[in-house]
Amino acid sequence: MPYFNEQLSEEKVFKDPVHRYVHVRNRVIWDLIGTPEFQRLRRVRQLGTTYLTFHGAEHSRFNHSLGVYEIVRRILENFKDHPDWNEEERLLCLCAGLLHDLGHGPFSHSFEKVFHLDHEDFTQEIILGDTNVNRILQRVGEDFPQKVADVIGKTYSNKLVVSLISSQIDADRMDYLQRDAYFTGVSYGYFDMERILRVMRPMGDQVVIKESGMHAVEDYIMSRYQMYWQVYFHPVTRSAEVILSKILHRARDLYNSGYEFQLKPIHFYSLFEENPTLNDYLQLDESVVMYYFQIWRNEQDDILRDLCNRFVNRHLFKYIEFNPNLQISEYMELNDLFRKVGIDPDYYLEVDSSSDLPYDFYRPGEEEERLPIHLQMPNGDLRELSRHSEIVEAISGKKRTDHKLYFPMDFIEGLSDDNAKKQRILEILNG
Ligand code: ZN
Repeated sequence: MPYFNEQLSEEKVFKDPVHRYVHVRNRVIWDLIGTPEFQRLRRVRQLGTTYLTFHGAEHSRFNHSLGVYEIVRRILENFKDHPDWNEEERLLCLCAGLLHDLGHGPFSHSFEKVFHLDHEDFTQEIILGDTNVNRILQRVGEDFPQKVADVIGKTYSNKLVVSLISSQIDADRMDYLQRDAYFTGVSYGYFDMERILRVMRPMGDQVVIKESGMHAVEDYIMSRYQMYWQVYFHPVTRSAEVILSKILHRARDLYNSGYEFQLKPIHFYSLFEENPTLNDYLQLDESVVMYYFQIWRNEQDDILRDLCNRFVNRHLFKYIEFNPNLQISEYMELNDLFRKVGIDPDYYLEVDSSSDLPYDFYRPGEEEERLPIHLQMPNGDLRELSRHSEIVEAISGKKRTDHKLYFPMDFIEGLSDDNAKKQRILEILNG
């Protein structure tokens, strides 16, 4: 039997807290899961620093990737006999679902920002480069790695296949909303996925939702909205992200200035030089990063030592609401006062902004064109979701932004009370 069609003699199942079981029958999928590149995802948390806010959020990208694969598998189970579905693309969809997050590094958000990396580029490199994953995909067919990379990169010719992995209602989002809700322990992320899977169907080059399933989709959109504001943009998580970014900045600045580290950051050298090879990148996971942070708690450099202590022991920055567009003079004054009292504002004062668009309909020509969700009406016509659902209409296309200012309150409180600058700093921070 050709490799692409080879089935395991016995179905393998992974116990999963969200989907109960993840089922694997294809030899190709089983082999991909066994590669070092995929196993590495066990050592990268799905939600970065969120575990410092919600202590249950220790789940990994490995969990999530298996979950996305399982949802794709279930969707395709329902598509199987549909005239608009080509069963030959089944394995391609399963591989793309499984591998879509393969390039995520440790604490992706901060690392990508500080070192100008893009996990999507690394996903492509791992699939197309000299890796175990690539060799397995090659065995399926010479052009198969490229096809998988195209689906994940959203350039594949069949948009129906792309939309299963990335659209406004795709296997990726359906998995992470439920999984992140489960592991954080919050009660907002739930929606009736079984119902949604039953009302999803292929139509031409897109996935549409049978009109009778609209309420389940409304629930899904609302859960996404809630999760963003209650979990993903939580200000305490962002405080930890700010500290993490500052550690990386400080370490790079020290490296560039020739500072002698007690523990030489050899795993970071090529990142500091903004030229990481694929192999360097694959060596870096959260256990390696945490090892450095732990050891750097005893470095000579005061700032690096303090920031690492804060991160490891969860001694985070405090925050206030702060709009940098309206409060620029306050920000400049704080910056100046911090410097004068000996708190380096480059590492200890930061504005962080988050924003989200809960659902968007198609507006041609705009920067971020998102494919809309279409309902299939009983007469067969298609209607864009926000034109039929009042709930979705109410939150459509509305971007909400939230700004916070982060600072070490303990340092400020530690200044002597007769220091007039301290009083002025507190005055500004207390509004
Ligand atoms: Zn994902």
